[in-house]
Amino acid sequence: MGGGTKTFVVIGGGAAGYFCAITAAESNPSLRVILLEAGNQVLRKVKVSGGGRCNLTHHCFDPKELSTRYPRGAKELRGAFHHWQPRDTIDWFDKRGVQTKVEQDGRMFPVTNDSQTVIDCLLSQARKHAVSERLDARVTALKQRQEQWEVQVNGKESLLADRVCLALGSLKQSGLEQVLAGLGHSISPLLPSLFAFNLPHHPLKELAGVAVQHAAVRTSPQNTAQHGPVLITHRGLSGPAILRASAWDARELAGLNYQFTTEINWLGKTKPIEAQNRLQEFRKERASKKVKNNPFEELPKRLWLHLVQSCGIDGETTWAHLSKQSMIKLLQQLTAYQVEVSGKTMNKEEFVTCGGVSLKEVDFRTMESKLVPGLHFAGECLDLDGITGGFNFQAAWTTGYLAGMAMASKPT
Ligand SMILES: Cc1cc2nc3c(=O)[nH]c(=O)nc-3n(C[C@H](O)[C@H](O)[C@H](O)COP(=O)(O)OP(=O)(O)OC[C@H]3O[C@@H](n4cnc5c(N)ncnc54)[C@H](O)[C@@H]3O)c2cc1C
Repeated sequence: MGGGTKTFVVIGGGAAGYFCAITAAESNPSLRVILLEAGNQVLRKVKVSGGGRCNLTHHCFDPKELSTRYPRGAKELRGAFHHWQPRDTIDWFDKRGVQTKVEQDGRMFPVTNDSQTVIDCLLSQARKHAVSERLDARVTALKQRQEQWEVQVNGKESLLADRVCLALGSLKQSGLEQVLAGLGHSISPLLPSLFAFNLPHHPLKELAGVAVQHAAVRTSPQNTAQHGPVLITHRGLSGPAILRASAWDARELAGLNYQFTTEINWLGKTKPIEAQNRLQEFRKERASKKVKNNPFEELPKRLWLHLVQSCGIDGETTWAHLSKQSMIKLLQQLTAYQVEVSGKTMNKEEFVTCGGVSLKEVDFRTMESKLVPGLHFAGECLDLDGITGGFNFQAAWTTGYLAGMAMASKPT
């Protein structure tokens, strides 16, 4: 490293590290930017993300509204989104040849429906701006030496850097938890988020594959209900509403060792009193018709049949003959269906780590440590995470961008 050239080392070749390295190299070409990746491939999660399609951001352009999709980090990200938000992500990729499209639920994908398009773009930008990349380079120690950083790779050789950005993904796999603690950083407990619920005595097993589009899920009476589709699987319950509940209540559910009762309103936003009124109307309007054959229109027929049977309502019972007691039971099954959960299954489509470097210790304008100057952070290694829908990649692009810009404008 000579001739006064400043060296930046980005540790971790995921979405956040890549975006940080490209941003720094592009905005200050006099820098030497080195990216170190422990694995034999960069952008591995981008490749498998969104079922191979890469849900790279979300169609939501208001920082305040966007920040509400983050169970952890909402306050800090809200400010950061004023500097880099989904509109900027879309424009950035568009200018570099990746067109995106929005789906009905707001998720955004490359029009090719292929995550490789996103990877090819990032790789070519890194080449264009002379980011030098090293694979199989696991950082094992990090020490500050006067104005510089000594970055130890694979327990042997060391690199010197003027600034360092940690973009390690989940800290659990990084091997650097102790190093960070040694630098004075606190790390909030690392736990899974975005998981499906296992049902040990699966009362709905025969309905595996059935989806309810507008349900509401609550993991305890005190917790906020999460709305969206619920999917019944062979193991239990999954789908966006379940994953959202797993994210918002990640810490609490870990504390319960994933043994808890969940409550589902299969009618979503319909309140019990409204459902009761509809049942009363059915009694009059459908008097001579059989209950089992006349479901609430929004419910899958198989689920309706299951709920009716679970209330002990005979197949021949007509609406006019439905007893008051059965009606109360049915109302409860429809709007407050309770089931025991035991254990979790990581979602194949997307999962993230809740917990990481404490946000209090990071300046979100520059992503620089407030404790150790010259050390920046980006992405999932921070104590921030979003629900499904492209929010996690957006957090990686935003924090990567801010770290890259700050490193480029404050070389020492
Ligand atoms: C199956 C799956 C699908 C997903 N799909 C989506 C999706 O469609 N949309 C969405 O928004 N989010 C999705 N996510 C979440 C998203 O992938 C993450 O939020 C995102 O990848 C975080 O980026 P990152 O750069 O912070 O971390 P990572 O992508 O995890 O990258 C961190 C990198 O750092 C490297 N590293 C770690 N320790 C060291 C070390 N000591 N030295 C050197 N290198 C190190 C790792 O090898 C890794 O390559 C998905 C996650 C999974 C698991």
